[in-house]
Amino acid sequence: MSVKLSNSDHSAMEIRKNRQSKKLTRCRFVCFYSQVLRPLYRMCIIILLSLTMTVLSLFGISRINAAVLDETIRIAIVKSSPEVTVAGDGLLVTNESGYPLVMSLPATVKLVKGALLVGGKQFQRLTFSAPAAVYINNKPYRGLAELSVADKGILVVNQLPLEEYLVGLINCEISSAWPIEAVKAQAIIARTYALNRKMARMTSPYHLESSVLDQVYEGSLVEDSRARRAVLETEGEVLTSGGAIIQAFYHSSCGGRTEASENVWGASLPYLKGVECQYCLSSPTGTVWEYKLSLKEIEERLRAAGHNVSGLYDVKPGPLNSRGRLKQLTILAAKGGCAISGDQFRKAIGYGLIKSTRFTMKNYKDEISFTGSGNGHGVGLCQWGAKQRALDGFGCAEILSYYYPGTELKKLSDISGWQQD
Ligand SMILES: [Zn+2]
Repeated sequence: MSVKLSNSDHSAMEIRKNRQSKKLTRCRFVCFYSQVLRPLYRMCIIILLSLTMTVLSLFGISRINAAVLDETIRIAIVKSSPEVTVAGDGLLVTNESGYPLVMSLPATVKLVKGALLVGGKQFQRLTFSAPAAVYINNKPYRGLAELSVADKGILVVNQLPLEEYLVGLINCEISSAWPIEAVKAQAIIARTYALNRKMARMTSPYHLESSVLDQVYEGSLVEDSRARRAVLETEGEVLTSGGAIIQAFYHSSCGGRTEASENVWGASLPYLKGVECQYCLSSPTGTVWEYKLSLKEIEERLRAAGHNVSGLYDVKPGPLNSRGRLKQLTILAAKGGCAISGDQFRKAIGYGLIKSTRFTMKNYKDEISFTGSGNGHGVGLCQWGAKQRALDGFGCAEILSYYYPGTELKKLSDISGWQQD
């Protein structure tokens, strides 16, 4: 029996045939993909990954150490400020409870009645983070910036991975254009110093100042490839003594011999006894400096530093210590005359004026002339000396063992328990 089909029935059959044909083609393709293409694709991915890992390991870039990379550090970048401006692309802002906030940026945060005021609302703590950088008072910082209320104003703490902090720090302390072994030595001592301070100030709001009081740091603005190279090539390396991370003090230039720690801070440390250093003598900061101050200026500076002096009429130098630095001075005044250590005197007058305690004095009628050499407290590594030793061909490990005798260079991951020295 034949059945005559209408045009519409023919069309429906054609569509069904086409669908079946497409389904078959799709099925064949799926089978071909699952049996041939997918295994091939997987194999290509595995080969590509293996090649990448091999290349990275050949260049020493794959030394990923989770413990080292997870190590963070907290730096006080603004202290006691009445207001702070914050900006940046893609900023995530959270309040003291961790709730995200919508805030128009750039934002000016002011301290009003014991709280942070921004956009008409009050907060106790604000945290800003960004994929690239958070700008605090127009300076970029990696990691996050935490604003809180401190005693005399707003405190801003920058929290970031330790290794990233070091990349930003190098060009604040020295020049990354120096011989690479000197830059690597700087990276190691800055890492060592930072971790030692972190252990000592674990319960404080921050671990380090961003000034000469600890280590100078101005965010990511001065990062460069040589600074990053020095940090990467010394990744996680610290100086130790007896298995503990040392107090790696350092300074700009010693002027001929580094200082013993007990002469500056009273505490004697076996690796900070002082060594001969002729290497910094030709440096810009190792050469002789001179400064004249009137008796009136000296009295004002002493009073501003908390020494209750009035009617100052002379300052007499006391004896030198065995490293050629002034141990003590005598302040002669109508009221409040006293003996003061060389370091206290330097701190009161200003570290930028009296650049070291290696100085002599010449007294005139109403003023005193100070002539000295070296720049800084003189303890530990001499930065300009390290530069010269690197130019002379010494490696960073040799430079460090010279300035910190008896210490041992170790990987952070090999130190158990994070003992503080
Ligand atoms: Zn020196």
